Amino acid sequence: MITLGIESTAHTFGVGVVKNGKIISNVKNSYITEKGGIIPIEAANHHRNVKEEVYYKALNEAKISEKEIDIISISQGPGLAPCLLVGMNFVKDLSKKLKKPVVPVNHCIAHLEIGRLTGSKDPLMLYVSGANTQVIAYASGKFRIFGETLDMGVGNFIDSFARYVGIGFPGGPKIEELAKKGKSYIELPYSVKGMDISLSGILTNLKQKFDSKNYKIEDLSFSLQETVFSMLVEISERSLAHTGKKELLLAGGVACNSRLQEMCKKMCEERNAKFFCPEKQFLVDNGAMIAFTGEIMFKAGIYYPPSKINDLDIKPRQRTDDVEVKWRKRNLF
Ligand code: AMP
Ligand code: MG
Repeated sequence: MITLGIESTAHTFGVGVVKNGKIISNVKNSYITEKGGIIPIEAANHHRNVKEEVYYKALNEAKISEKEIDIISISQGPGLAPCLLVGMNFVKDLSKKLKKPVVPVNHCIAHLEIGRLTGSKDPLMLYVSGANTQVIAYASGKFRIFGETLDMGVGNFIDSFARYVGIGFPGGPKIEELAKKGKSYIELPYSVKGMDISLSGILTNLKQKFDSKNYKIEDLSFSLQETVFSMLVEISERSLAHTGKKELLLAGGVACNSRLQEMCKKMCEERNAKFFCPEKQFLVDNGAMIAFTGEIMFKAGIYYPPSKINDLDIKPRQRTDDVEVKWRKRNLF
């Protein structure tokens, strides 16, 4: 069985191909900006321009022709509506042309399911990307959100600070490099609220400290990472304790950060939990995770046949716990 997966929720247009649970290609093209964040209409134009090229490249790498595709899966949400529409229209046209069913996949859930490749089975996922920051785990028929950011995603938070100090986008990798050179810890607000975190006050504080010219950017970057990653590790650890899960899975672009990985690993060692971190191509947005999850969902009978394809729509504000998870064994934690 061959499944195609299309990802277009934000800056990345990705196409992946999966054959019976094995990734046989994963191609993407991402919209980047010189200055400033994502402009949704521009990102959508980018996706429109590259979609054919990415699609055929993915088929070539998988060494298949499009006639061999059995199932098409699509990242239905959450995400930016103009970007999601490019993927959805592409998939609808393809489904009509090839007469194949379409599986609608939740983007956040795909980040979790692709963790199976690393050996994780029933993880608590710390999902840290540009727009999303959530702690998610399966319980009683759904992937439930145990903690999340109350204002902005941790990636956007880091990028906003980076932009403010003039080091461009994406700021994450650059802040990580600066942080390695930081020597002294500067006290910042530590903002955990129950199981949730809040970042906007810390951003304001960092900007004020930067403007005062009393601090080195290396020390500010170091302190940013130590503070905010500790907050993420704290809510993850509390969620592990609460759910009784024995695995922590990292996902999202910020999970590329080696200091965050190190802190999570240490916490897991201390409480005898297993730590999983997929390779980079699956941490960031990608089509392979959509195909991989689509195949699993199709087997559970979740799909739109070509005759019903017009009922399918994007879900820009879909929450992880809106989705009925029929493909996992129902358990209480
Ligand atoms: P995503 O939305 O999952 O594609 O992730 C993009 C976000 O990941 C951006 O906000 C980046 O700044 C951030 N990011 C990428 N690499 C790193 C890194 N090494 N450390 C921290 N953040 C990172
Ligand atoms: Mg993502």
